[in-house]
Amino acid sequence: MAYKISDECISCGTCAGECPVNAISEGEDKYVINPDECIECGNCADVCPVGAPKKDE
Ligand code: SF4
Ligand code: SF4
Repeated sequence: MAYKISDECISCGTCAGECPVNAISEGEDKYVINPDECIECGNCADVCPVGAPKKDE
């Protein structure tokens, strides 16, 4: 399980700097999370201005 960034992402980049395991990088038209690295800390969801990172159930 991991967090996943939805299409609501506006590519502000804030979340990438708050991820403790550097699992977030800039993708084609939004930021993306590497599911193999995400430890589900929730930091990205907490700092995102548009609530784009969501738990991928
Ligand atoms: Fe990184 Fe935590 Fe977000 Fe996973 S939940 S991508 S570990 S900030
Ligand atoms: Fe996208 Fe939110 Fe991350 Fe900004 S903080 S890059 S809007 S997911």
